[in-house]
Amino acid sequence: MVGQREFLVQSWYHSGAMASSAEALALTFLPSTCATCRAALPWTGSRAGICAGCWERLPLHRGPLCPVCGSPEVSTGEECLACRTEPPPWRAAASLGPYEGTLRDLVLLFKNRGRDELAKPLAKFLAGNLESRGWKRPDAVVSVPMTWVRRLRRGYDQAGLLGRAVARELGTVYVRALRRHGRGAQVGRSRSERLRLAADAFGVRRRVAGRVLLVDDVITTGATVACCARALTRAGADEIYVLAIARTPQPGRIP
Ligand SMILES: [Zn+2]
Ligand SMILES: [Zn+2]
Repeated sequence: MVGQREFLVQSWYHSGAMASSAEALALTFLPSTCATCRAALPWTGSRAGICAGCWERLPLHRGPLCPVCGSPEVSTGEECLACRTEPPPWRAAASLGPYEGTLRDLVLLFKNRGRDELAKPLAKFLAGNLESRGWKRPDAVVSVPMTWVRRLRRGYDQAGLLGRAVARELGTVYVRALRRHGRGAQVGRSRSERLRLAADAFGVRRRVAGRVLLVDDVITTGATVACCARALTRAGADEIYVLAIARTPQPGRIP
């Protein structure tokens, strides 16, 4: 009987029925309204408690972007003035869209509300974005580390979870290459203060080589990823790419 049951479960799985049944099962436990627009969740099309409409209407970048820093404040697809004047310590950086609307809701749900199930669909978006930009598959995926104090207090590392999910999507390895030294919260500090604190905030935990993809949730001033990129160069990376879920509309001007 057990064998027959296993066979039935396996054929159920391979027929694709498992996905919809698992989804139905998940819906029994997950809230029945979309976590961002609050509309009733339909039985199909929703992923990780977010309705299909919200996934389709994500505010992604549409216009030209600076190919180096990913800034949308360019009229053509040429490098922006800031990148030409002071090239950042990475090959290219990009984000899915501006930090607003549904994209902002998703980041907050994932980062602060412990909605781990968002890691996979977000990673799929990031992996798709990397491919659409023509970036080659990285040799390793790295995430921005949090301080051990914060990690202990939170009990989980969302950035690591996202980094691992992206590595899985791209069929490459996730490496905890960096460590973060406790330097206190960045909120409420001036830009120059944050830059100074961030400069020596990251250390090498494990060596890397070749092309490295640094995954982050939101790029604000770019200072954090720049410091991570410098640490990754020290860790052995030859080429660094940065990919984030979102970026604040005016990096550098938002505290
Ligand atoms: Zn929705
Ligand atoms: Zn730029």
